[in-house]
Amino acid sequence: MKEQIYTIPVNEGFEAGGECPFCNMYHALEKDAIDYMLGASYMEDDIRAETDKTGFCGKHFDMMYKEQNRLGVALMVHSHLQKINRDLSSLCDGLKSREKKGLFGKGSKGENRVSPYLNKIGASCYVCDRIHNNFDRYFDTFFFMWKKDDAFKEKVKASKGFCLEHFSMLIEQGAKKLSGKDYDEFIDIIVPVQLENLKRLEGEVDHFVNKFDHNYKDAPWGTAKDSLVRAITKLSGEFVEE
Ligand SMILES: [Zn+2]
Ligand SMILES: [Zn+2]
Repeated sequence: MKEQIYTIPVNEGFEAGGECPFCNMYHALEKDAIDYMLGASYMEDDIRAETDKTGFCGKHFDMMYKEQNRLGVALMVHSHLQKINRDLSSLCDGLKSREKKGLFGKGSKGENRVSPYLNKIGASCYVCDRIHNNFDRYFDTFFFMWKKDDAFKEKVKASKGFCLEHFSMLIEQGAKKLSGKDYDEFIDIIVPVQLENLKRLEGEVDHFVNKFDHNYKDAPWGTAKDSLVRAITKLSGEFVEE
């Protein structure tokens, strides 16, 4: 199949190797999103209005902080804090019990609108949202390529499988996007790829553990040397530095 602009990121995800092609795609989107945030988009009013509302998750605060654009991060943090301070002071006003007769009668507790507000901020992140908008489309593209392109199926067969979360998403999406016979063929291909690669990784980590035993001191590492970081990606989707 001729490569289209929308198939490029999916192909690149598979070509990059590693323990999960979708994690490769996710991390490429994540890097783009962080670059976008710190490439002065924070100076645009409409984007700042959004980041003031959503804020960022801890992971993406950390990634932005490490990018060395401290002023950019500080400007976003400052106006986000301003909004929270404005909102919280009025929401906290309504918390205490009402002592006089009021709408809810004597002594009724004020409605807690603080926790839902803070829970919403805690669960929202401008960078996560930006990534997910694109990432969901990659699954559509994956199944489009799966149906149209036998060479792509071979690429999937030759992969090292997927992290647990993305394997789960593939099964769910496959059930929605493929019809009976095509779905069975899909399962016949990706389940062995996934299970064999999980077994392979179990063996590699077993060897990694054995290398701490003095009896194995001189045994060659083989592929086990980076197996722990690869296993962490397989289990959690995170890329940890070696
Ligand atoms: Zn993954
Ligand atoms: Zn995030």
